[in-house]
Amino acid sequence: MSALILRNGRVIDPANNVDVVRDVYVSDDKISATPAAGARLVDATGCWVVPGLIDMHVHLREPGGSAKETIATGTRCAARGGFTSVVCMPNTSPPADNPGTIALIRQRAEETAMVNVYPTGAITRELKGEELAPIGSLKRAGVVAITDDGRCVQNNDLMRRALQYAGMFGLPVLDHCQDYQLSADGVAHEGHWSLALGLRGWPALAEDVIVMRDILLAEDTGTHVHCQHISSGRAVRLLREAKRRGVPVSAEVCPHHFTLTDEWLKTFDANFKMNPPLRSEADRQALWEGLTDGTIDCIASDHAPHCPFEKEVEFDVAPFGIIGLETELALSLELVRKKILTVRQLVEKFTVNPARILGLSKGTLSVGADADITVIDAERDWVYDVGQSASKSRNSPFHGWKLRGKAIMTIVGGKVVWEE
Ligand SMILES: [Zn+2]
Repeated sequence: MSALILRNGRVIDPANNVDVVRDVYVSDDKISATPAAGARLVDATGCWVVPGLIDMHVHLREPGGSAKETIATGTRCAARGGFTSVVCMPNTSPPADNPGTIALIRQRAEETAMVNVYPTGAITRELKGEELAPIGSLKRAGVVAITDDGRCVQNNDLMRRALQYAGMFGLPVLDHCQDYQLSADGVAHEGHWSLALGLRGWPALAEDVIVMRDILLAEDTGTHVHCQHISSGRAVRLLREAKRRGVPVSAEVCPHHFTLTDEWLKTFDANFKMNPPLRSEADRQALWEGLTDGTIDCIASDHAPHCPFEKEVEFDVAPFGIIGLETELALSLELVRKKILTVRQLVEKFTVNPARILGLSKGTLSVGADADITVIDAERDWVYDVGQSASKSRNSPFHGWKLRGKAIMTIVGGKVVWEE
């Protein structure tokens, strides 16, 4: 039985229109209206007390990739970063394209996870883009969405049928938007820096074409499509126009895409190699505008652990992706300091918005809700030392960065899983 009193924090709960200094009470695993007898008192003066943060795009690598990460280590990273819920991608080994693998992930999460883990299922068998996975059985096994993340279904008719089935089962479709003909064997954003550095180009158009395709398919089928890790300015514009017409689409952006640009590639450090690639300054600013006006609903890490021996190779052959759960909040708080987001908007993009897209009963501090809470010191200065990461991997471009703002307590179901 856990009981807590979080005293005197700035409570920001957008779902309830709350932004006020007050106490929050936890009794057992729920938010409570009154303090419980014998509750632990936590002084939250000067801190934000917000609904537990949700990251709807992480790779936990289990089963099959436990040299890179496990559900235990990935969720410990999440807890340190202030996240109480994560949504894991199906490109495991074996892939999560069948109810048995979903059951295995849920069982491992039950046994070892420090935060809530919501699995997604694949759109297609083995994520090959050739035949549909058993979407109804995946739904029954407990997935919150389907996605072929890491890959993208190229066959438009197959994708249309995927949306039709997903709609029947009330599942959103998350899409990694990449046209393979256009991205070809690119490793870097096609532009000034790819040319200057002699890296094979990957045009933003490879994303835009699929975003446009997805908008049309969402409009045609009525099924919700969520575009993952948007990196291109034109994709933001397409999504903005589609939302205005009432098309059921949403989007997420990753901290590395709104923080960095392709200029960093001049270091030839493979920790700046991701999919989609870091893009131009103009793209970065368009992402900021999309965050401000709500075109981009969520911030997600695309936490993608890789072993050092895989990443410490020449840029061309290194795998795509970086870890991100521990730096995500601090990099996102920078958006508030830059006046790109209000505090409320920032909290929404980490709580109510992903909960709404995925249909999770999370993301609020309502009395009776699960006691998932993050306490944030928004002014805490710290330096990210990837050597101390809770991840099994070390592939972060933010090692040694001076950051501001940190989760100092993460509470999942009334249980303190991280505190500093
Ligand atoms: Zn992806």
